Amino acid sequence: MEAGTVFTTISLIMIANACVLSVVSRDLPHTLRPAARSWQIGTVLIAGGCAVFAFGSSWPRPAMLVGANGPMALGLTVYYAAIQQFYNIRPKAWQFIPAVIATLGVLWFSLVTPSFQTRVVIVSIVWVWLMGASIWTLLFKSAGDTSLSRKILIGLIGVGLVFSSARVIAYLLMGVSSNFAVESGANWLNILSPMVLTVLPVVGTTAFLLMCSDNLRRRLEVVASTDYLTSLPNRRMLARAGEKRFRDAKVRHSGFAVAVIDIDNFKTVNDTHGHDVGDQVLVTVASLLREHSRKEDMVARSGGEEFTVLLNVEHHTTAVEAIERMRLAVEQARFVTGAVRIRVTISAGVAAYLPTDNTFEEIFRRADQALYSAKAAGRNRVENATVPHIGGQSIPMAPNLADAK
Ligand code: GH3
Ligand code: MG
Ligand code: MG
Repeated sequence: MEAGTVFTTISLIMIANACVLSVVSRDLPHTLRPAARSWQIGTVLIAGGCAVFAFGSSWPRPAMLVGANGPMALGLTVYYAAIQQFYNIRPKAWQFIPAVIATLGVLWFSLVTPSFQTRVVIVSIVWVWLMGASIWTLLFKSAGDTSLSRKILIGLIGVGLVFSSARVIAYLLMGVSSNFAVESGANWLNILSPMVLTVLPVVGTTAFLLMCSDNLRRRLEVVASTDYLTSLPNRRMLARAGEKRFRDAKVRHSGFAVAVIDIDNFKTVNDTHGHDVGDQVLVTVASLLREHSRKEDMVARSGGEEFTVLLNVEHHTTAVEAIERMRLAVEQARFVTGAVRIRVTISAGVAAYLPTDNTFEEIFRRADQALYSAKAAGRNRVENATVPHIGGQSIPMAPNLADAK
C-alpha cells in the first residue's frame, strides 16, 4: 500500500468530520461556538496538510513539504487554542511561533540544506510541544470538568504525543538517507504514521463534540438546581442534599441539623418599598446567611422569603449558636435604599437529626414548627424544635439562646 493512498483516504475522512462538526456547532450555545469553530479550522488545516502529501508529488519538493507540514503544525496549534477557548482561556498570539518555526525549518532544510533528519526532528519537537500544551490545559485548567470525554481526549492526544516522540527516535535510529520521503510506502513507519496521526482529527473530533455536550448538560444541571435571584441552591437541590446528609447521618451516626429561616414581616417591606427593593433585601439576606455559615453547611432558598440551612454538627447547641449568629448579622446589617433605612429581621427554627427519624422531611417539619413558635413568640428569634413524645411530654433539645438575648 502506498502512503499516498492512506493520506488521501484520511484527508477525506477528516473533511467529512469537519463538516459534521460545522453542522452540529450551529446548535451549540454561543459560549461554546468559538471553541467548536477553532476545532473545525484545525481539522480542515490538518486535512489540507494530508491532502498535499497525497496529491503534491508533482510539485517542487520544498513546496510540497512546506504545504503539508505548515498546515499540520498550524492545525495542532488551533486545536490547542480550541481547548483553551473551551475552558474560557484566551489563546495568545505567541502560541503560533512553534508552527512558524516548523514551517520555516521545513523550508530551510528542504530548500537550502536538505536534511530529512533535521526536518523530522524540528517538526516532531513542535508537535510534541503543542500536544503537551494541550494535555496540560486539559489536565490542569479544566476547572472541575470531570467528564469522561475529557479523559478520552487526553488519552488520544497522549497517543499522538508518544507516537510522535517514538517515531522521530525510530527514524534517527534507522539511519534513513537525507532525501528520504515519508509520503512513500518505502517504510512501515510511513504507512503507520498517517494512520496514528489521524486518530486526533477523526476520533478526537468526536471526543471534542462529546465534551461540548457534557458541558451543556452540566450547565443545565446548575441552572435547574440554582435559584436565579440569590444564586443559592434551590428547593430541588436542598431536597437532594438533605436526603444525602440524612443517609450519611444514619450510616455514620454523625450529627446533623436543619434550620428553617424566614424573613419577618417581609410583606410590609414589599408593600412599603416595592417589589424590587424586596428582591434586593432577599439578595442581601442570602449573602449574609452564606457569609456567616461554614463551608460544609448548605444554605438554600427553600421558598419565597424562606431559607433552609443544613448543618453538619455534633451538638445541637452548635447549630443553634450558628443560626443565632446569622440572626444577629441580619439584625445589625444596614439595608439602605435611597435615603431610607429598612430594618430587616429573621426568625428561625432549628431541629437536630434524631436516630428515630425516618426521613429528612421529618426533621425539616420539626424545624418548620419551631419557626412557627419563633414567629408566635414575637419574631427576630431562634427557636429550638421540641423532641416529640419523650416521657409523654415534649422537651426542648437545648437551652433557647434567643431567650437570653
Ligand atoms: P412573617 O413575619 O409572618 O413571615 O410575615 P411575612 O410578611 O414575611 O409573611 P407573608 O407570608 O405574609 O409574606 C411573604 C411575602 O414574601 C409575600 C410575597 O409577596 C413575598 N415574596 C415571596 N417571594 C418573593 C420574591 O421573590 N421577591 C419579593 N420581592 N417578594 C417575595
Ligand atoms: Mg416572612
Ligand atoms: Mg414565609
